Amino acid sequence: MYDNLKNNQHVYYLNQEAYNRIKREYDRLHNSPGGDQVTVDAMTRVIEEQVSRGVHISRHLSGKAIDVRNSKMSDEDKRAFEQVTYEAGGRINRQEAKSHYHVDLP
Ligand SMILES: [Zn+2]
Repeated sequence: MYDNLKNNQHVYYLNQEAYNRIKREYDRLHNSPGGDQVTVDAMTRVIEEQVSRGVHISRHLSGKAIDVRNSKMSDEDKRAFEQVTYEAGGRINRQEAKSHYHVDLP
């Protein structure tokens, strides 16, 4: 998440309120003298606090989602992956990013 913010790469997160709280720490600290580690540590503390309350920015944090990079897949590979995913009960969310499939697990 830190790298995505630093690289200005937009990634969609399911819980926008939780995301905004974490991003506030990034905005507050990423240009500070402590640099990357201070910012990552502060973001981690917010995420851990959220998880302790059962709040998850993403289904990834509860083990209910995976990302599969698709940028090097052929069209045929993509069709096969999508078919197998649906047959296994997974759901592909195309909102998150174009560089990968976000798969919600059953
Ligand atoms: Zn994902």
